[in-house]
Amino acid sequence: MNAATATCRRCKSEMHLEPLSGVTGDDGGITVSFPRLPALVCGQGHRRFVRPEFPVQLLKRLSSTVQMPAGEARGVVFKSYHCGSCGTKLAGAAAGSKTFEFDVGLEGVDPFRVALMVPVYTCPSCGREQVRSLAEVADRTPAAMARAFQSAEIPPG
Ligand SMILES: [Zn+2]
Ligand SMILES: [Zn+2]
Repeated sequence: MNAATATCRRCKSEMHLEPLSGVTGDDGGITVSFPRLPALVCGQGHRRFVRPEFPVQLLKRLSSTVQMPAGEARGVVFKSYHCGSCGTKLAGAAAGSKTFEFDVGLEGVDPFRVALMVPVYTCPSCGREQVRSLAEVADRTPAAMARAFQSAEIPPG
């Protein structure tokens, strides 16, 4: 499929590739932002993904790209979180939030930036600042992303 010749499903006019600015959504304390999200836009302002698989491809790419200092969860029923560096138990409350930025390249579009704002915990022993669990970040990212696309009025699929 050639993005340059796409036709809007709603008004049948021509769509072109245009980065949407400030697309943001959050879930469970995690915020995903796209300063310039590539999307197809028609003359009436209708929007849609560059291709239907775009969100799935983006999520996949993100899971192999995202790196941040992280702690580890221990326990099955009663979870506790420990420093990924020295193993000391992390405080129950986050020390604040930190934004991590990644450039993502997907077929057919220029690389674009993804920012993840996540709660970080400071190790009381070695002072390392980290998310308490990378799995937790990965679990919440899809819902935060879905909200970002909703707020930008990009219909699913
Ligand atoms: Zn349209
Ligand atoms: Zn530590």
